[in-house]
Amino acid sequence: MTDRFGRIINYLRISVTDRCNLRCYYCMPEGAIRLLPREQIMSFEEIVEVARAAVRIGFNKVRLTGGEPLVRRDIEVLVGMLAEIQGIQDLAMSTNGILLADCADALAAAGLRRVNISLDATDPRRYAEITGGGDVQRVFAGIKAARKAGLVPIKLNCVVTNSSAEPDAISVAQFARQNGLEVRFIHMMDLPSGKFSVVEGGSGGDCPRCNRVRLSSDGMIRPCLFSDIAFGVRKLGAVQALKQAIREKPAAGGPCMHNWMHGIGG
Ligand code: SAM
Ligand code: SF4
Repeated sequence: MTDRFGRIINYLRISVTDRCNLRCYYCMPEGAIRLLPREQIMSFEEIVEVARAAVRIGFNKVRLTGGEPLVRRDIEVLVGMLAEIQGIQDLAMSTNGILLADCADALAAAGLRRVNISLDATDPRRYAEITGGGDVQRVFAGIKAARKAGLVPIKLNCVVTNSSAEPDAISVAQFARQNGLEVRFIHMMDLPSGKFSVVEGGSGGDCPRCNRVRLSSDGMIRPCLFSDIAFGVRKLGAVQALKQAIREKPAAGGPCMHNWMHGIGG
């Protein structure tokens, strides 16, 4: 479906949970994090219904994200259900990689095509500082397992504070080169102030070329991460919520009231 600015919208990002096993300081700061009551989180059946509706109106690309998608129980079952939908040409996942070593094979067998893995630093101490205690060795093991399972091309997502020339980013670029991986540098965003920029090496943050809408973990279709506009699939039905979101997708993102990256999916 084409929006009112002529953009073809074909990419659905699905946040399968607002929970996470890390606490990256820019995403889920220490202290009071609002988590959804479990009954508000979309069931697999509800998610699949939205994906089917999306394909019917022209979507062909789906990404699972979160929170951390791999903390959602039986996530490979959802992958399998989505993989059966005719018309999804690209089925991918964004993950922090912490749990990936144990489930890469099952995800690939279920029909996942590829993964993007977040890695902001390679130094164990720096990684733990940024992620609130994460073990970078587990991410390295996850990357290895993903490659072995054929979840390729693997892309690394690296959040930078100022530029890709800062030391942690350089270490990630080096690691990527040594391991034959692509890396995308995401400048740290700030939702309330509407601060974001184009992803280096990727396609996010480029409003005139944006082709995505999001399904948040509580069942709202959000046409723009940097906007409070949202349409409930439980209230409107999936097709209507998707169509309305596309119709009202803003020309560009701006400041917003919400600060809910982990529930909407980054
Ligand atoms: N937990 C998974 C992960 O970390 O890859 C998936 C969800 S996470 C919200 C998706 C992406 O958003 C990650 O690459 C993360 O680094 C990025 N992200 C989260 N908060 C951000 C922020 N404030 N600015 C820039 N990127 C952010
Ligand atoms: Fe969790 Fe990903 Fe947010 Fe880090 S960026 S806290 S891993 S959801």
